[in-house]
Amino acid sequence: RENYETHEYDVIVIGAGGAGLRAAVEASAVPGLKVAVISKSLLGKAHTVMAEGGVAASFGNLDHQDSWETHFYDTMRSGHFINNYRMAEIFAKEAPDRVLELETWGAVFDRTPEGRIMQRPFGAHTFRRLAHIGDHTGMELLRTMQYKAIHSGIDVFQEVTMTKLLMANGRVAGAFGYFREDGRFVLFRAKAVILATGGLGRVYKVTSNSWESTGDGAALAFRAGADLMDMEMVQFHPTGMVWPPGVRGILVTEGVRGEGGLLYNAEGERFMQRYDAERMELSSRDVVARAIFREAMAGRGTPHGGAWLDITHKGPDYIKTKLPGMYEQFLTLADLDITRERFEVAPTCHYTMGGVRVDPETCATNLPGVFAAGEVAAGLHGANRLGGNSLSDILVFGRRAGLGARQYLEGMEGGLAAVDEAEIDHEMNRVLAPLTREKGVNPYHVHEQLQEIMTTYAGIMRSGETLQTGLEKLLALKEEAQTMAINGSRRYNPGWHAVFDVQNMLLLSEGIIRSALERKESRGAHWRTDYPDELPDWQQFNFVESFDGDAIHIRKEPVPEMPEHLARLFTYGKAPGLVQTAPGKESSK
Ligand code: FAD
Repeated sequence: RENYETHEYDVIVIGAGGAGLRAAVEASAVPGLKVAVISKSLLGKAHTVMAEGGVAASFGNLDHQDSWETHFYDTMRSGHFINNYRMAEIFAKEAPDRVLELETWGAVFDRTPEGRIMQRPFGAHTFRRLAHIGDHTGMELLRTMQYKAIHSGIDVFQEVTMTKLLMANGRVAGAFGYFREDGRFVLFRAKAVILATGGLGRVYKVTSNSWESTGDGAALAFRAGADLMDMEMVQFHPTGMVWPPGVRGILVTEGVRGEGGLLYNAEGERFMQRYDAERMELSSRDVVARAIFREAMAGRGTPHGGAWLDITHKGPDYIKTKLPGMYEQFLTLADLDITRERFEVAPTCHYTMGGVRVDPETCATNLPGVFAAGEVAAGLHGANRLGGNSLSDILVFGRRAGLGARQYLEGMEGGLAAVDEAEIDHEMNRVLAPLTREKGVNPYHVHEQLQEIMTTYAGIMRSGETLQTGLEKLLALKEEAQTMAINGSRRYNPGWHAVFDVQNMLLLSEGIIRSALERKESRGAHWRTDYPDELPDWQQFNFVESFDGDAIHIRKEPVPEMPEHLARLFTYGKAPGLVQTAPGKESSK
């Protein structure tokens, strides 16, 4: 029998990105509570580190009319009203405090001349709202939270992949996985588990996401009985790098457009005029991504099938100060100086709006003791996420998940749940199987085929026909992938790690296609050419998925109804900060 080591904690957090670290800090605020963070990459390398443009919070430092109401309005409107309104309300109200708190922990934001936190404009935010540190906001955020987490007495396990969530007698018992370095197995027994594993962008061929974004947390939770929601909603960011081929998909931050960058088609026309004359380049991501895609389809694309983005008119000093990362990125990766030349951009898979369904107040899932926060969770962003809203999401709901786990522990009776040894044996055999199989399909080959299927049949543009074809191909691939095999040992074997990534992505891809087939309309990121219109407001709903170990089941649930005081914010069809209010009735900050 294989051995495994065991660790016991009150709370384990799977994921060391912004959401995981913020959750861990909050959970560990109770003296004596044992908390661990587990990450499949190194501390400081989580996907959050890549975030560039900024973190959205309605300080109103530059535009004094801004308020939580306007941020809420923008978030709901851009999410096409299938967001959970309560999540959006909590989010908009708490985001400023979470950003200020980061400052007290040592984050250094760019400042206005008066010394306030600087805020930049971003797509579909009514006001200048994104607090930032040049164009490396995520790095500073992660650095700050890491420091805080380490000094809060949290244990950290790096380069450990969790492969299974363990439940016992209706509550969580912990999680099981292995050290990537040498393949030794590890059991974490825990009273509460917080999932903060990020998104699933690697499902698509062209993506801005890091290698970690394979949807592990959502897949683990789904297999254990958690509900997933809004799986059809995958965001394609309008501006990924296009050329040379090796860099295709790497993000060009929305900050370039925020700082004045303009989009042109091959005919030299500012084509956004045709798609959103009011907001132009700063329209929401779904609109700009579709516009670039349509221009290329209409034969007005750039040589490599995208659009031109031009910021040269801002001058070298401005560009190098405001967008130093972008300047460097193009110079080193594409040998191109963005202060002197325009460059090609095209849509790239960027963000997962769907994921684990959570309670807005506590981030609890339907599995007792399991919580989820950040990109792995669903509900806040609806059909389309606003730029900058993810960094504030991970702060607001990371904290709430930590609090939720604490409250859960206070109310719970008994200690750690018993772990079923037979289940662990079964999991160890499952994980070792690809190494012992004589013959089988290579996981990298399966991944490539999966990306091909998802990009061709369930990408930025879909129809019932493409989705149905995609589903058939995916199910055949799933069958083939039952026997993935890999050479070598458990020591430093990336091919072996890829097996579990691919298994997770196959399961979730099926979830994406099935929900996309069910949603017979176009809404936000979900664009169906056979149902090009958005259904009327009274028909808003979410698709919730559950998995019985064999098949995915989908139910259609009406979106929770907004209370009157929030619904009223939409009556003028204009953002609250732009509506004239009677004296004494200004919206609150
Ligand atoms: P992540 O940061 O993705 O962290 C996931 C963690 O889970 C990692 O530590 C990973 O190792 C771990 N993990 C995953 N699976 C397992 C497993 N099986 N076992 C153990 N550990 C596991 N958003 C903004 O708001 N503003 C921006 O300016 C912005 N810019 C961006 C730029 C780029 C290039 C990209 C790609 C995204 C950007 N985003 C931005 C989005 C934002 O960065 C992410 O949505 C956010 O950081 C996700 O944080 P998270 O904590 O949920 O997960």
